[in-house]
Amino acid sequence: MEAYHSLTLLQQELKQEKYSLKSVVEHYLKQIEEQKDLNVFLEVYATEALAKADELQQKLDTAKPLGKLFGLVIGIKDVLVHQNHKVRSASKILEGFESQFTGTAVQRLLDEDAIIIGAQNCDEFAMGSSNENSAFGPTLNAADNSRVPGGSSGASAVAVQAGLCMASLGTDTGGSVRQPAAFCGVVGIKPTYSRVSRYGLIAFASSFDCIGIFSNNVEDNARILEVIAGHDEYDSTVSKEEVPAYSDNLQLNKKMKIAYIKETLENEALQSEIKEATLSKLEWLKKEGHQVEEVTFPHLDYVLPTYYILTTAEASTNLSRFDGVRYGYRAPEAHNMESMYKLSRSQGFGEEVKRRIMLGTFVLSASYFDAYYTKAQKVRRIIRDETREMLSEYDFIVMPTTPTTAFPLGANRDNPAEMYLEDIFTVQANVSGIPAISIPNGVDDQNLPIGLQIMTDVFKESELYSFAEYLMQS
Ligand code: GLN
Repeated sequence: MEAYHSLTLLQQELKQEKYSLKSVVEHYLKQIEEQKDLNVFLEVYATEALAKADELQQKLDTAKPLGKLFGLVIGIKDVLVHQNHKVRSASKILEGFESQFTGTAVQRLLDEDAIIIGAQNCDEFAMGSSNENSAFGPTLNAADNSRVPGGSSGASAVAVQAGLCMASLGTDTGGSVRQPAAFCGVVGIKPTYSRVSRYGLIAFASSFDCIGIFSNNVEDNARILEVIAGHDEYDSTVSKEEVPAYSDNLQLNKKMKIAYIKETLENEALQSEIKEATLSKLEWLKKEGHQVEEVTFPHLDYVLPTYYILTTAEASTNLSRFDGVRYGYRAPEAHNMESMYKLSRSQGFGEEVKRRIMLGTFVLSASYFDAYYTKAQKVRRIIRDETREMLSEYDFIVMPTTPTTAFPLGANRDNPAEMYLEDIFTVQANVSGIPAISIPNGVDDQNLPIGLQIMTDVFKESELYSFAEYLMQS
């Protein structure tokens, strides 16, 4: 294999015996080794991936039926469990823990003949926007090694950006697929909440958590979602809505009605080149005959606080299970039950995770529950209703994925509020439960990738993919 273009092409060339699947896996293992400094993989499954390649090659050679993702070399974020493999959530607290089962999304990849190449670094428990909150050190952006790749699924984005695998599974609770996709110049989707099973995904904020996909192109992305989405008896929150064949239908064949939110483009934090790149895409759409209109969304300022109140509340309950008793790390010097809890949690969790547990515990405490948690739930409903109302009038909402391009390592490390502002454009989709995708939209003055975000109404991933493909081809 010379260069990877798409899964469809790879499968054709494997069938034509242009190269073996083993040589493909060897190629990626070599890339991973050569670009080790990016700190993308927490663990590489070299022996296993090569064995799987041999097994699949045999399937091909003996003309057995092939899975839909035959030959896809894919990496998974370190929050997705995989039987008999370690999983860390990039945290010290899960030290030594090995999973006893495989989560649904990962199992479906394996069932369709994908090859899992390893577990990818991320922010601890998926909390962060820069990958700097990992207990295993930051991942570097391949476009500029002095900059962050975004987060929390930063390494999953870099893996695709730097050609260390063909695609990655990440998770998006508040933008963790789309923001790093934008920072690294790749395609990243967050599907509708409930589209993909969360079984086997280590929980951060359960009413927001969504498994998403990174890829080089829209078609690969669509093919992977087709496989991992859909009803699952292990997760009762998954929708029973049928999963369309997204990749069969990537043509856009009518004129669309597109809204852009005034408050996003007028946001003072927005980098000028990103604003220009977004406006020029909107201009182009108008010229092509689509209806493009400005709308206002005065509640934009409430989206981030709502997100951070609700997700910290959910995180504080979800993370209570990590106590030194059941999983992973236990402080060696603990001398009774109370000190075991306290010491294990104090030493096992990193600073940002502790900040969120404390914030979440505070908003859930008896005296503040109504003032924060209940109120945020009500605001969430308003934001969701207004967003969906907008989407009943327009096919898509288009906006920048992020206010800035990739920032230097360390730039926001000591200022959590500044870091949270990175999510200003991505959290609306999570608060509302709607699908959203980030696609590359040029580069800034320093050659850093810019992302364009497209949102649409629930379960309209098909339309989202065709529109994204249309824009990518433009
Ligand atoms: N940056 C956001 C946060 O820190 C989003 C994280 C995510 O989507 N997992 O919460």
